[in-house]
Amino acid sequence: MSRFVYADNAATTRIADEVLKEMMPFLTENYGNASSLYSLGVVSSKAIIKARQQVADAIHAEPGEIIFTGGGSEADNWLKPIARSLAKKGKKHIITSCIEHHALLHSMARLEKEGFTVTYLGVDSEGFVSPQEFKQAITPQTGLASIMFANNEIGTLQPILEIGQICRENGILFHTDAVQAVGHVPVDVKALGVDFLSMSAHKFHGPKGVGAFFCRRGLPLDNLLDGGAQERGKRAGTENVAGIVGMGKAIELACASMEENTKKLAAMQGRLIDGILSSVPLSRLNGSRSHRLPGNVNISFLGVEGEALLLRMDLAGIMASSGSACASASLDPSHVLLAIGLKHEVAHGSVRLSLSDYNTQEDVDYILETLPAIVKTLRDMSPLWEEIVKEQA
Ligand SMILES: *Cc1c(COP(=O)(O)O)cnc(C)c1O
Repeated sequence: MSRFVYADNAATTRIADEVLKEMMPFLTENYGNASSLYSLGVVSSKAIIKARQQVADAIHAEPGEIIFTGGGSEADNWLKPIARSLAKKGKKHIITSCIEHHALLHSMARLEKEGFTVTYLGVDSEGFVSPQEFKQAITPQTGLASIMFANNEIGTLQPILEIGQICRENGILFHTDAVQAVGHVPVDVKALGVDFLSMSAHKFHGPKGVGAFFCRRGLPLDNLLDGGAQERGKRAGTENVAGIVGMGKAIELACASMEENTKKLAAMQGRLIDGILSSVPLSRLNGSRSHRLPGNVNISFLGVEGEALLLRMDLAGIMASSGSACASASLDPSHVLLAIGLKHEVAHGSVRLSLSDYNTQEDVDYILETLPAIVKTLRDMSPLWEEIVKEQA
């Protein structure tokens, strides 16, 4: 194998060395329970206080508005208790989009089984939710809405500010799944006026299994996990101190280098998109060219099977994804690619390359040398390819 190119950073990222270094004492000698009153416990509780401040600072929140969770999926699951308490006030309608992460969509499906009505807004061909359509979906029963900040498959950045304004004008509580956005693009909960927000450490070079839920001060919030008094009693369980410390350090580093990283990533992203589209016929970019996460590239290749493409790329040392991690374990085409209007067979022939600041221009060179050749090989092998070319002509 000539090279090892990790280009699946939307699935997860490597832990930064500085982050691991910060975590290590809490996996070894500083093992005290943060609820204990002796000094070893206080070392842990102080570390959590610091991390809560780091996470709050990163999104312009207050430390009291941050609740640590076991990751992004868990944070998204908070919408269930929130919806159930709104139902007591007769608000049993929720608005979301059909391109949300499964943590959100499956939480919504459960609420529907309990009698809630959920509107799943469609998106346009670039993956945008329309604020106009959002407005039209509001009913007197609408109490809650959730629209993701940035899509994990096609990178589209949603008009969160506009949708948040509409929510405020209509007395609707507004959540955004910002798991792909935090640490990558500026997120300011004060400026956006969102009520709830989900994030996850392993998407910005922090550890897996730790995330946070932002809940605006003053809003009532039902418990997610009952038990001890940790996280103001809302999310019980002995704290994952090392994880929380890692998240704090990772978010601080990500925000400090965001401007520089964005410049670097945007340049690599542009080269990848232009390079692939110009060298591979019958290929198309999925998502928006301008309102897009800086590291995301998602391209469909007509007449190619995504899984075959991924396997060949893996043999060449390139790690990518054919959609979301959940979708790639099954053969159902990605719900996001179908939502932007791709036919099943086109959605199947799509690849997502997601870069991080650990990638280099040499990685981009290598992908551009390798990927078009793999697509060509697969197409040459396909009995359908000549048909497809004739159809397109
Ligand atoms: C990764 C991801 C999640 C899930 O986060 P975990 O920490 O892996 O549970 C939720 N939403 C989006 C948009 C994601 O990309």
